Amino acid sequence: MQLVLATHNQGKVAELRAILEPAVPGLELIGYDGPEPVESGTSYLENAFIKARVAHMHTGLPAIADDSGLAVEILGGSPGIFTAIWAGGKDNVANRRLLLSQLRDIPDGYRQAAFICTLALVTKDSEVSFTGNWPGSIGFEERGEFGHGYDPVFIPEDFEVTAAEMAPEVKNSMSHRALALGELIAFLRNA
Ligand code: IMP
Repeated sequence: MQLVLATHNQGKVAELRAILEPAVPGLELIGYDGPEPVESGTSYLENAFIKARVAHMHTGLPAIADDSGLAVEILGGSPGIFTAIWAGGKDNVANRRLLLSQLRDIPDGYRQAAFICTLALVTKDSEVSFTGNWPGSIGFEERGEFGHGYDPVFIPEDFEVTAAEMAPEVKNSMSHRALALGELIAFLRNA
């Protein structure tokens, strides 16, 4: 079975291929270089489906797309779908700095947050989605060198280290993305 991943990011294709192909016998994950839609949805779910539908329409193959972000409770779920551009542009350093300054005077115990990842699968017969939620909190400063994005400021629940201080294989076994992918794998195995 061929499955298109609706992203132009080759790193993401390689990362998901390494997880999905060994887990689902007979699966071939292929990249996508067709048109990329405007992500005009108001939720991770809508944006993931917008991307997966376009890739499916363009290739005629089953397509998956992911959309992810960070929801901070005291900020009412923000940055949410605007996680990547929270400080304007797509600058991770500026994004983290802005978030830390917004939470500067918010005490411990009120800094709960979660990383969320939604995967949408669109085939000619059906549309399904899978969502992973990784709870934790926002630290008071950046710590750690691993990972990407907001990892240096995110402290997973039941841990004292940030996601950027965790060995990547530990993060990748429990993250929002791992949880959503686990559900997708179970679904594809039974398909
Ligand atoms: P995307 O949907 O993968 O493009 O991610 C959207 C935004 O969420 C980007 O700013 C990412 O840096 C952030 N993000 C998503 N997943 C993670 C993660 O595992 N660690 C840190 N930041 C993440």
